[in-house]
Amino acid sequence: MRSRKQGTGPGTIGNRQWPGVIERYRAYLPVSPATPIITLLEGNTPLIHSRALSRRLGRGMSVYLKYEGMNPTGSFKDRGMTVAISKAVEAKSVAVLCASTGNTSASASAYAARAGLRSIVLIPSGAVALGKLSQALIHGARVVVVDANFDACLALVKSLAQGHPVTLVNSINPHRIEGQKTCAFEICDALGRAPDYHVTPVGNAGNITAQWKGYTEYRRRGRITQRPAMLGFQAEGAAPLVQGRVIKHPRTIATAIRIGNPASWQGALAAAEESGGAIQAVSDRQILEAYRLLASEDGVFVEPASAASVAGLLRLAQAGYFKKRATIVCILTGHGLKDPERAIKSIRLARPLPPSLSAITKAAGLK
Ligand SMILES: *Cc1c(COP(=O)(O)O)cnc(C)c1O
Repeated sequence: MRSRKQGTGPGTIGNRQWPGVIERYRAYLPVSPATPIITLLEGNTPLIHSRALSRRLGRGMSVYLKYEGMNPTGSFKDRGMTVAISKAVEAKSVAVLCASTGNTSASASAYAARAGLRSIVLIPSGAVALGKLSQALIHGARVVVVDANFDACLALVKSLAQGHPVTLVNSINPHRIEGQKTCAFEICDALGRAPDYHVTPVGNAGNITAQWKGYTEYRRRGRITQRPAMLGFQAEGAAPLVQGRVIKHPRTIATAIRIGNPASWQGALAAAEESGGAIQAVSDRQILEAYRLLASEDGVFVEPASAASVAGLLRLAQAGYFKKRATIVCILTGHGLKDPERAIKSIRLARPLPPSLSAITKAAGLK
C-alpha cells in the first residue's frame, strides 16, 4: 500500500513540499483514506510581521499580516474549497454550484476543473471584480450573471441545489468551514501560540466562524492554551451584524463583503461573544486608506475587502482598545490583483513623454 505520509501522494516531488491543507491537517478534517484529495497545495500562506503597523500602534505591539491572497486562486476560499470539492468527488457529484461575489467562484471553478467536475456560478451583475470574473471564465465555469445582489443569488442557488444533483459549495456547505479552520492552525503553528487578537473582514461570516472553530479545536487538543479575541469588520454600508438587521441594499466598494444577510450570522456573533471580541463597521474611506497604507508602507497588495481588517485595527487602536504588548494578527483575505481597476482608479497616471533625458529626469523626480 502506498504510504500516506505527507507529500508522498501521486504527482508530488519528494517529501519536502508543502502538501496542502488536507494532508497537513488531516486529523482535524472530515476526510478518510477513501476521500480523493483534490488540492492545489493551498495554505501555508505567509505570516508577515508589519513593522509599519506595529510602529503606528506603538506600546510594544506586534502586528502580523496573514496574507491569504497568496493562496493558489488568490484568496482564503481555497482552504475550504479543497475540502468541499474533495468531498463532492467522494460523493460522486458531477457538478458544483455557488453564488459568489467573485472569489468563491474563482476558487470553485479552479478546483472543479482539477477534479473534472462541472461548475456553475451565479454572480451579481456589475458587482464582481475583473480578476475574479476572468478566473471563473478561464477555468471553464458556466457563469450566470444575475441582475440582483449576492443575497438574491445565494437564495437562488439554494433552491437550485434542492432540485438538481449538484453540490452547493457556498460556505453553508459545512466542508468549507472545516477547511477554512486551517488558517487559525497555521497562525498558531507559526507563532507557537494563539495571538491575543485576531482581526478579520466579515461578509457572509463563514470565515470568522471557521477561524474561531479552528482556535477552539486547537485548544481542545492541547495545541494552544489561550484563544484570541475575535474582531470582525464589516463595511459601514453592508453591516447587518452591527446593525442587527438584514440590509436590503448593501453598498460598499469592497465587493467581497457587500453582503446584507450573512449565512453564518449566528457563527459570527458567537465567535465575537465567546472570545470577548466584537463585530464592528469601518467606512469605505477607512478601508481605502488601509488599502493604500498596506501597499505603500508594507509592500502588501490586497483587494479592498481585505483591508477592512487593517482599517478596523487602526480604528480600535485610536480608541485605545488594545492592551499593551499585544500580538495581533490581521487576516488579509484576498490579493490586490483581483481588482486592478481599484488601484489604478486611486492614482493618476501622467501622460506619456517624449524620450528626452531632461524631460524624463524631471518627471522621475530626480532633478
Ligand atoms: C469571501 C471574502 C471575504 C468574506 O468572507 P466571509 O467568509 O464571507 O465573511 C472577505 N474578503 C475576501 C477577499 C473574500 O473573498
